[in-house]
Amino acid sequence: MSDRCGAGGCGERLPPGMLEAFDLGSPAADGALVWLEVTGGPEPEISQSSLEVLGKAAELGAGRVFGMMFGGSALRPLYGEAFSRGADTVYHIRDGRLSAFHPEAYCEAARDLAERIRPSVILMGATPRGRELAPRLASALSAGLTADCTGLRMEGGSLVMTRPAFGGDLIADIVCEGRPQMATVRPGVFPAPPPAPGRKGTAICRGYGGSSLKDIAHSAPVPPDGGDISRAKVLVSLGRGAASREALEAAESVAARLGGMVSCSRALVDRGLLPQSRQVGQSGRSVRPDVYLAFGISGSVQHKAGMRLAKRVIAVNKDPDAPIRDDADLFIEGDALSVLRELDKALRSPL
Ligand SMILES: Cc1cc2nc3c(=O)[nH]c(=O)nc-3n(C[C@H](O)[C@H](O)[C@H](O)COP(=O)(O)OP(=O)(O)OC[C@H]3O[C@@H](n4cnc5c(N)ncnc54)[C@H](O)[C@@H]3O)c2cc1C
Repeated sequence: MSDRCGAGGCGERLPPGMLEAFDLGSPAADGALVWLEVTGGPEPEISQSSLEVLGKAAELGAGRVFGMMFGGSALRPLYGEAFSRGADTVYHIRDGRLSAFHPEAYCEAARDLAERIRPSVILMGATPRGRELAPRLASALSAGLTADCTGLRMEGGSLVMTRPAFGGDLIADIVCEGRPQMATVRPGVFPAPPPAPGRKGTAICRGYGGSSLKDIAHSAPVPPDGGDISRAKVLVSLGRGAASREALEAAESVAARLGGMVSCSRALVDRGLLPQSRQVGQSGRSVRPDVYLAFGISGSVQHKAGMRLAKRVIAVNKDPDAPIRDDADLFIEGDALSVLRELDKALRSPL
């Protein structure tokens, strides 16, 4: 634990006995841990779906309700909101680099927390990010996961998770024998609880102790929006295989010379390298350029959903079997950054 603070702010004494009760890694296997997803930029907010899940967790009667949030010190004003909506303890993994969603790092930090707290239940909203984080965390904890639940209740110490099955023809009640019991909750199903002003809790801040953040260029600000990718005739699009400042610089230069724009897969938005408005895909924009140049993009169904109207696709990937190959008019097997730099050099050279 790198530092601890009481609800009113860091530096205050913790309530007597708190460490014994909640922070010894004792085999308590009790309580519900809820991921408090934070939205907004300079003035962060706890997302509506997280408030809904928090309210449901408090109502379940699974023991204490723990909230976990990730980000810089700008999140401190949110502790009170979390307490007023049902959290008894908020764990804040405090690191400015976590202000942008980073599934690997969030998973690492959440696993560390879950192994210390040993909650019986872990819940998060079935938002795009929750859907990405929950399976990673379930796998890291070797736990079962029921996705997109529309009902939750406790029965004899077990969480009964209700969700539609077989295309909605059946409503299934699912019980998980192991611990923790994990579920994502469909947004909008449960009401967010009304705030209970003055309700007290305990906030515990920890530094991020994992290793997954080493490749985040956190000091570089996300560039401003600067246009609408859905109107661009040429898109130079970057994926996780080209998620670096160097690749971004080269892509900007290539796009400028071709009269186009830089777009990306969600991997770059999650890393804070580009704003969400540049994301192509199911939860991003649908684009219809004359040419879509995809560098280091695997071709997930969610990404393809946004680029299927591109007239020509040129894909660069080091994996000859990357699914994007099926959609590519031209596939170049190679390193994304090297090809980007070569292309940039070629476009700069006079004919
Ligand atoms: C509900 C939901 C909504 C989503 N919405 C979107 C969305 O709108 N848009 C979106 O993009 N994603 C979306 N996703 C995420 C999506 O599932 C994928 O995780 C994401 O598209 C993967 O991005 P990627 O292709 O950049 O990364 P990866 O799938 O990790 O692929 C990286 C690729 O780069 C290649 N590579 C690695 N290194 C190099 C190198 N040096 N040179 C060349 N190639 C290299 C690899 O071979 C691989 O093919 C959504 C997910 C969910 C659950």
